[in-house]
Amino acid sequence: MTRYEVTIEKDACDGIFACLTRDPRFVEGDDGLATVDPGADPVYDCEGEVTDTAAHVVATFDDDRIDEARQAAAACPTDAIVVREVGE
Ligand code: SF4
Repeated sequence: MTRYEVTIEKDACDGIFACLTRDPRFVEGDDGLATVDPGADPVYDCEGEVTDTAAHVVATFDDDRIDEARQAAAACPTDAIVVREVGE
């Protein structure tokens, strides 16, 4: 298990949604920009804490799916997604 934080900078997000195809926890929010919904994954029962403000989305997970989040970050053409491991 890895504890990690996923941040989406909304200023940088262009609503291109390349992230959604790499990690289904990324979804389109009400504002037309990307957000994170741990319950949106149809395959895995995923839990995480999400804070969604006007400036950014911060989601914290404690599971073995950091690589999927990293692939979403790598796929984002505007580098709006940052994934980093955090301590306990
Ligand atoms: S791929 Fe990047 S720019 Fe596109 S919706 Fe996702 S976070 Fe936003």
